[in-house]
Amino acid sequence: MEHSVERVPVATMVNGSELALTIHTFRGGDGPVVGLSAAIHGDETIGPEVLRRLAALLERSEVELRGTLRMLPVGNPLAYEANTRNTPTDHVNLNRVFPGDPNGWVTEQLAAKIAKHFLTDLDAYVDFHAGGAYPVVDYVYLTSAPELSRAFGTRLLYRPKDPYPGTTATIADERGIPSVTVELGGGLFHEEEYATRNLDGLRNVLRHVGVLAGDATPAPEQILMHDLAVIRPHHGGILVPQVRVPDLAREVEGGTVLGRIYSPYTFELLETITAPFARSLLVLLRDNLAPIHPGSYMYMVGDAATAETLPAGT
Ligand SMILES: [Zn+2]
Repeated sequence: MEHSVERVPVATMVNGSELALTIHTFRGGDGPVVGLSAAIHGDETIGPEVLRRLAALLERSEVELRGTLRMLPVGNPLAYEANTRNTPTDHVNLNRVFPGDPNGWVTEQLAAKIAKHFLTDLDAYVDFHAGGAYPVVDYVYLTSAPELSRAFGTRLLYRPKDPYPGTTATIADERGIPSVTVELGGGLFHEEEYATRNLDGLRNVLRHVGVLAGDATPAPEQILMHDLAVIRPHHGGILVPQVRVPDLAREVEGGTVLGRIYSPYTFELLETITAPFARSLLVLLRDNLAPIHPGSYMYMVGDAATAETLPAGT
């Protein structure tokens, strides 16, 4: 197994430091080439740790490589440093501007380098997202590579009717690269459990592709969601959660209280957030008693009535 690390310069920052991409290549034979990326959103910090753990397994020969893995552990180093979703320098969301612009905003310059130097000549691609600094999330997108998405093994899968434009997955689709976008973990809660689940899911996907040796475990019975509501508050204040991380990927009745927002000044109840669908699947929530801004990601809820049950694989 050969391991090399490439640094791709992007720009010079005002403080004199160089903004660069760090791309690892692990070569272990003539098998498929698979790209893995994380921290395209800088506050989704579990992804780089998952890739670090996989790299350690490869270095110690605890997994056998039958092809090539290319890893971009931190897609947006500026946002990762600041623990923010968007780039602090220009406030742009990196995962909406692909294929980028070599002469655009610094985030667009970053996207252009990722599209040119990383998202090329791949047989499959996995992108790690998460809930962010506060929310915790628990599903995998099922789009261009249903078998691979299922192999990750989460209970919930989601096929959007209108995928977000300008993502790394958009570029992968245009280039005919099957891709999986993972949304698993985030926040400051249960992070060890989520690191383990992410690594286990990734290893199973990589066995399925054939880039790691061994048989993939068949997919469990899973729920494929088609309708997902993002609930954002209208009032900032203290969020007092009524559902917790262990409730994720579970179904609750419509009207179930998910959380209440109180004013920290007058103590008045400002907003009560309830489950919107008669059969609501909890996809994203906040497990912390902390201030929340109006309009921020608070809950994501799937509609169980329009979801499909996918039988366990063989
Ligand atoms: Zn993300």
